[in-house]
Amino acid sequence: MMAQNHVPFAMSCWWLYATMTNLPIEVQGTMTAAIGGMMPDLDHPESALGRRMLLVSVPISSLCGHRGVTHSLLAVVVLLWLLVAVTTLPAYQHLAWLITPLIIGYLSHILGDSLTPSGVPLLWPRKGNYSFNLFKTRSWQETVCVGIFTIGTVLIFGVWERAFADFLATVPKFPRGVAY
Ligand SMILES: [Zn+2]
Repeated sequence: MMAQNHVPFAMSCWWLYATMTNLPIEVQGTMTAAIGGMMPDLDHPESALGRRMLLVSVPISSLCGHRGVTHSLLAVVVLLWLLVAVTTLPAYQHLAWLITPLIIGYLSHILGDSLTPSGVPLLWPRKGNYSFNLFKTRSWQETVCVGIFTIGTVLIFGVWERAFADFLATVPKFPRGVAY
């Protein structure tokens, strides 16, 4: 799946999760999910995130190749473990909110790539790729499917209304009847 589709797919998956678990729909969570949705392609120096982080993407790419370990459940477990370990340190406890949207975004990337024919090595280091073979990467079908999913999520689950209500909830309320 292309980065321009991974991003809305990750954001939509986060909105779905936030709606189902009654978490607020905020810009920070949405952007974090979008970043999580690009992270597995750090194994590709030409990817959207890989180009900006060549010091990370070049070594991962030469060691594991594209769609290797970073597209597996093992990577999700390691990332989760790292995030929990870091955010339990007193200096970083305030960043614990990052964990869920980042992991949801990351998982959405693996799911998104599994919809393409080449699939993902979900159980790496076990050999074998898992694929739903729904559409080819860079095909118009990919863009249409992600577009329908994103628009459907926004419309059916009332994402705009919820995001607006959650935004209003953050605006400080002034007591009534007081002149300013
Ligand atoms: Zn990928």
